[in-house]
Amino acid sequence: MVGAIGVIGYQFDDQTVELLSYRTKPHFGKERVISKESVKKMKEKTFPFTFNNIDETKNKVLICPHGPDPVFYGIRGENTKSLLQAAKLIKTQEKLDGYLIFKSNQGTSAHLKNEIDVSELKPYSSGKITGYVLDDPKMEKGGHAFFTIISKGNKVRCAVYEPTGLASEMMHLRKGDKVMIGGAVRKASKKYPRVVNIEFIKILNLKKNLKLTNPLCTKCNKKMKSKGKNQGFQCVKCGKKVKSKKIEVVQRKIKKQMYLPVVSAHRHLTRPRQRIGILNRNIQFDDSVSWFRIFKN
Ligand SMILES: [Zn+2]
Repeated sequence: MVGAIGVIGYQFDDQTVELLSYRTKPHFGKERVISKESVKKMKEKTFPFTFNNIDETKNKVLICPHGPDPVFYGIRGENTKSLLQAAKLIKTQEKLDGYLIFKSNQGTSAHLKNEIDVSELKPYSSGKITGYVLDDPKMEKGGHAFFTIISKGNKVRCAVYEPTGLASEMMHLRKGDKVMIGGAVRKASKKYPRVVNIEFIKILNLKKNLKLTNPLCTKCNKKMKSKGKNQGFQCVKCGKKVKSKKIEVVQRKIKKQMYLPVVSAHRHLTRPRQRIGILNRNIQFDDSVSWFRIFKN
C-alpha cells in the first residue's frame, strides 16, 4: 500500500500501472506457489504491454514478493486491459482475495531524470551525469567494475555491480569515452570513497582504439621485422624497407548504445529497455475496466 500513498502529489510525466493481487489472511507469510510456465506464457502474450515479469536469463519469476506482506503478485504494465489479460493467464492453486490496480511511476526511471550536481555529489541523491571516462575500469573482488569519470571538472567514481550483468561489459570502457550514467550516490564508507551506483549507462562516444604495429610487406603480405630503434622495418623475404610503424584501428568491444541491468537487478523505477522513448500520459481511468475486484471464493 506504500506505493498507493506515494502517488498523492506526484507529477506524472510518464506513468505505468500495476495490478496487485492479494492473498487471504490464512495464507499471509506462507510460500507463494505460482506456475512459472504460466508467467512465461503471460509474458509472451502481453509483452511489451506488461514488463519485468520474469528474468529469462536466470529463469526467475519477478512478480512475487518474498516477504510476509499480503500481496501475492504484482504485474506492471502500460494499460489496465493488458494487466487484466495478464492476470487471467497466471496460474496458482491459491485462492486469492482480489486485486487492485494502481497508477505508478514504476518503469519510468523518474528518479534518474534530473542531473546530479557533480560539484556536490550529495549522498542518496539520484539522477544522471554526463562525463568522460578518466581511467580504465578495474574489476574488484565479487566481479564488480569500478571506474572514474570526469564531469564539469569533478571526478566521479562509478560502480557497476556484478548482479547488474553489466560489469564485464563495462570493463571495455577506455579513457576518453563519453558516457551518460544514471544511478544513486552512495555515501563514503571507511573502506570506499563516495560512489555512484550505476543503474544505466549510455555510451555517447567511443575513443578510437589505435594500435601501432609492424608494417606489412605489400608484395609478400608478410609482417616486416624491425631493424632496431629508429632504423625502420624490413621484409625478411624480399628486403623491402619501410620507415615507420603502421597505425591500425582495433575494433572496440563495447558499443555506442544504452546499457541496462538484467531484469532481476532492476530497481522498481528503472525503465525497461522496451520503455525507452515511451511516454504514457494517457492511461484512462474509464469504467470499462475494473480497477478493483474482490473475488468470491
Ligand atoms: Zn616482402
